[in-house]
This record gives sequence, C-alpha cells and structure tokens, in this order.
Amino acid sequence: MLNFYNEAAPLAILQQRALAVPMQPLVLPALARRGIELIIRRDDLIDQQMSGNKFYKLFWNLQRAKSNGVQQIASFGGAWSNHLYALAAVGQASGLKTLGVIRGDRPPVLSDTLRDVESMGMTLCFVARETYRQLTREADQYAAFQQWLVERYGDLLLVPEGGANCEGARGAMAIGQSIEQQLQGNYDEVWVAAATGTTLAGLAAGLPAGKIAGGISVLKGQGSMAADIDRLYRQLAVTDVPQSSNWRLVTGFHAGGYAKKLPEALQKFQKNFEEQHKVLLDPVYTLKLFFAISSLAQAGYWAAGTRLVVVHSGGLQGRRGFAQ
Ligand SMILES: *Cc1c(COP(=O)(O)O)cnc(C)c1O
Repeated sequence: MLNFYNEAAPLAILQQRALAVPMQPLVLPALARRGIELIIRRDDLIDQQMSGNKFYKLFWNLQRAKSNGVQQIASFGGAWSNHLYALAAVGQASGLKTLGVIRGDRPPVLSDTLRDVESMGMTLCFVARETYRQLTREADQYAAFQQWLVERYGDLLLVPEGGANCEGARGAMAIGQSIEQQLQGNYDEVWVAAATGTTLAGLAAGLPAGKIAGGISVLKGQGSMAADIDRLYRQLAVTDVPQSSNWRLVTGFHAGGYAKKLPEALQKFQKNFEEQHKVLLDPVYTLKLFFAISSLAQAGYWAAGTRLVVVHSGGLQGRRGFAQ
C-alpha cells in the first residue's frame, strides 16, 4: 500500500495516482435516449483501503501533520464512516497514530467498520453526548476539541469530520486536473456526490475554465454546504478559474439522508446498475449520485450531445451498514 506520508515529492505522487484512475464509458438508458454521453471515473479503484475521495482529502492533511512534526491524527466519524476507515488505513501505512472520535458511549458490539479501524491500529475515543455537545458549542469548535483531546492523548492534528478543510479540497483538485489531462478536454461536466461538499469544491477548482463541476447532495438539510463550498473554492481557485464559480449543487435526491431504509425505486436502480455494469454502488453516496444523474437526464436537465464524467467516489466498505 502507498505510504504517502514519507514521500519526498508528494504532489507528483498524488498526480500520478490520479492519472492512473480508470475512466470507462458507461451506458445508462435515460442518458442514451437523450443523446448524453457518460464516462465513469473509477476512484473506487484508486486504493484498496483508502478508497475514493477520502484518498484525496487525506493526502494534504497527512503532509500537514508531517510538516508540523505531529505523529498522531485524530478525526470524527460515525459507525460506518468511510473517512475514519481511510484514516485508519493511512495511519497503518504510514506509521502514524490515529484516533477516531465517536459521539456517544461505546456500544457492546462494534460495527464492522469500527472493528476494522481498531484492527488497523486506530484508537477509538467515545465521547459522551453531553461532553460532545459542550465541546462543539464553542465558537471555534475544533480548537476546544483539539485541546480536550491533546490533554488525553498527547500531541495531535485534528482533521474535521469528512476531511472537510482546505487541505481536503486541495487534494480533490487532483481529480479535476487529471480528468482534464486524461480526456484532453473532451467532456463538458463532472459530477460527484456531495456531503460536506469538500470534494466538489476541490474538483471545481481543479477544472479549467469552461468546464462545470456538479454535486448531488446526499444530505436532507443543506446546512451551510453551499457557503462552505464557495469558501473552499475561493481559497483554492488561483489562476485560470472563471470569476463566476463553475460549480452547481443539486438537492432533492437525499432519499432520507443517512437513513437506513432505501426507497424501492433506489433499490431497484442499484440492482439493475450493479448487474448490468458490474460496478458496485454504496447506498449513501454513489447510488444517489447515479440515480440523480439518470433522473435529471430524463427530466431534460442536459442538452443532447453533453458529455458527462461521473466520479465513483468509492466508500464501498460502508455498504456493510446496509446489509439485510
Ligand atoms: C465521504 C464521501 C462523499 C462525500 O464527500 P464530501 O467531500 O464530504 O462532499 C462522497 N462519496 C463517498 C463514497 C464518500 O465516502
């Protein structure tokens, strides 16, 4: 597995990995009927454990830990967190200690994901709900939480839940940059699932002028997602990026947010998609993404001749949370 913590030339490594990600034409009936082309970008294949967009979002956070001389990275996540899973894998590969902070008491039986991260060497820190509330009530919630954690676990770098910071978005720029190189400009828009919107912001900043980045929100309430994307985008977009932002966020396809029960239409779509294309989807992110793309196409969202790239952002370990 890749040990990118110890790389001397990290950017070259990141770009090389991003350029090696397969891009495959994929026929979805709703798109084909309208003359829309689709290429799937298989970031689910970028790494066995640091799957999909979490690979990119952790990349510069790791480098930051390294340049700060910090030997431990902590972050937040839930029972089926792809982010904690990727972080644990990063720690195992790079020799860094990792700490997973989870809201609530330790359950008698851990989820498969939490059991896996522990076996990869991550320390789990269950924080009582009331304490968690207090620590995140502060104006700068990360500073308060960081201090609380440092007192208990020693020096560490605290990464926001989902890798939602500027380093995270900066890593995702490599997705846009490599798509441009791989396709030599022969595409119009790139779509991705969005939860914190960090990947979308980086993707948008990584694309050249004239190309559009689109996000399908998987969350029920939008919260501050659009504002967060805008802030990250502006931090990253240095040159060659259009003044007016080149990203869109589409809502309404959350299907209950992180809810455990999928509507029947989505279940059916998943079954057909996986059987036909031999590509697995996860119910929280990429299933909603492809379902939304298909529905939007059907509703006439894109003109005939539009060439779409859809990013498979990985996260398949989280499927286990949906089994049965
Ligand atoms: C975490 C995750 C996302 C959401 O990414 P954001 O940058 O938070 O918007 C999308 N897809 C998968 C598979 C994920 O694990």
